[in-house]
Amino acid sequence: MKSSSAQCLVIGGGPAGLTAATALASAGVETVLVAAPAAGVDHRTTALLDSSVKALTALDVWEQCCAEAAPLKAIRIIDDTRRLLRAPEVLFAAEEIGLDAFGQNIENRRLMPALERRARALASLTWIEDQADVVQVADTSATIRTVAGTVITARLVIGADGRHSLCRAAAGIAVARRTYAQTALTFNLRHARQHHNISTEFHTETGPFTLVPLPGRRASLVFVVHPDEARDLIKLSDCLMGEEIERRSHSILGGIEVEPGRGVFPLSVETTTRCGAPRIVLVGEAAHTLPPIGAQGLNLGLRDAATIAEIVVTAHREGADIGASKVTDQYGRMRRADIISRTVAVDVLNRSLLSDFLPLQAARGLGLFLLGRAAPLRRGAMREGVMPFASQPRLMRGLAL
Ligand SMILES: Cc1cc2nc3c(=O)[nH]c(=O)nc-3n(C[C@H](O)[C@H](O)[C@H](O)COP(=O)(O)OP(=O)(O)OC[C@H]3O[C@@H](n4cnc5c(N)ncnc54)[C@H](O)[C@@H]3O)c2cc1C
Repeated sequence: MKSSSAQCLVIGGGPAGLTAATALASAGVETVLVAAPAAGVDHRTTALLDSSVKALTALDVWEQCCAEAAPLKAIRIIDDTRRLLRAPEVLFAAEEIGLDAFGQNIENRRLMPALERRARALASLTWIEDQADVVQVADTSATIRTVAGTVITARLVIGADGRHSLCRAAAGIAVARRTYAQTALTFNLRHARQHHNISTEFHTETGPFTLVPLPGRRASLVFVVHPDEARDLIKLSDCLMGEEIERRSHSILGGIEVEPGRGVFPLSVETTTRCGAPRIVLVGEAAHTLPPIGAQGLNLGLRDAATIAEIVVTAHREGADIGASKVTDQYGRMRRADIISRTVAVDVLNRSLLSDFLPLQAARGLGLFLLGRAAPLRRGAMREGVMPFASQPRLMRGLAL
C-alpha cells in the first residue's frame, strides 16, 4: 500500500475541482488531486460569466481555449407561454454596463482539456488518477484511501466530487434534494441565420428553451420539458428534431441542423446545510445543484473554488493550519449568501414558469416589465448577475492569488 501526504487534497476532476486545484498549486500550495479520467465526451456547453472568464484567464487556462468560445453580448428573454398574463420581451445588453460581453459560451469538450492541461503543468500539483474510496477526518488532518489502495493524508480535503459526494457524507453534511417534473434536453445546433451573439431564452409553460451562441452559425440549446414529453422528443430523428426546434424557436435562427451528441438531464435542486466542516470543505455540485436556468451552476462552483483557494493561500502564507476550523468556518460564511441567493432566484423563476397561480405569473410579468422599462434597475440586475455583491474573490476580479 502506498502512502503519502500533501497540504491540500482535492477530490474530483470536474471543472470545479480542477479550478480549485490549479488555483492552489499555482500559488505554491502542495496539492494532490484525486480524479479518474473522464468517461465519455460531455457535449454540453457552459456559459461562463465575465468574472469566471477573468478567473480562468488569471489561472492561464482561458488563453488555451478562448478561440473556441463565443461572446454573449446580449440576452433576450421572450415570454412564450400562452397564458393570460404574459411578460413583455426584455433585452439585456452588456454594453449598457460597460462590458463587451456578459461572458463566453464554450463547449465542455473544449474547456475541460484546457483545465486539465494547465493542472498537469503545475509543479506543486500531483494528479492521482484514481477515485477516493474512504474519507476519514481526525483532529489535525484528514486521510483518504483510494480504490487502488493509496493512502493520502492532508490538512484539508476539498470535496469537488459532484452531486453524490463522498466527502459530503464523510463530513456529515446533510443535503436537501427536490426533483422537478422537468427534464433538460441538450443539443448543439447549426443554423442558417446569424445569432449576432445574442442568447435567446424562451420562457414556456414547461420551462426555458434557451439558445446560446457558439462560434460561427452554431448554438447550444437547453430545452426544458416535462419528462413524458422528453421521452417522446428524444426519439425523434435528427431531421425531425431540427424541424421541431425551428418551430419552437419561431425560426429566429432559420433552418436548424442538429449535431451528434444529445444530452438528457432530469432536473433537481440540492442544497446543503453548510459547505465547511472540520478538515473538509465542499465546492461545486458537491455543495449545491441548480437546474440549468440562467447559467448559474458552474459559475457558482468557480466562485467556491476561487474563494477557498484565496482563504487557504492566505493561511498558508501566514504559516497557519490550512485545514483549521477558522479556515473552513470562514469559507462556509463567505459562500452562504451567494449560494442561497442564486438557488432561491433560480428556483422562484423556474416555479413561476410552471405555476398556474395567477399572482405568481403576474409578479414575474411585472418584474420583467420593470426590468425592461427602468434602466437603473436593469443595470443593477445585470451587474449583480455578472459579479454578485456577496462574492468577489480576487480571482473573479482577474487578480492573481
Ligand atoms: C444541461 C446543463 C447545462 C448547464 N449549463 C451551465 C451553464 O451554461 N453555465 C453554468 O455555470 N453551469 C451550467 N451547468 C451546471 C454545470 O454543468 C455544473 O455546475 C458543473 O458541471 C459542476 O461541476 P463540478 O466540478 O462541481 O461537478 P462534476 O462536473 O459533477 O464533477 C465531479 C467529478 O468528481 C468525480 N468524482 C465523484 N466521486 C469521486 C470520488 N469518490 N473520487 C474521485 N472523483 C470523484 C466525478 O467523476 C466527476 O468527474 C449546466 C448543467 C446542466 C445539467
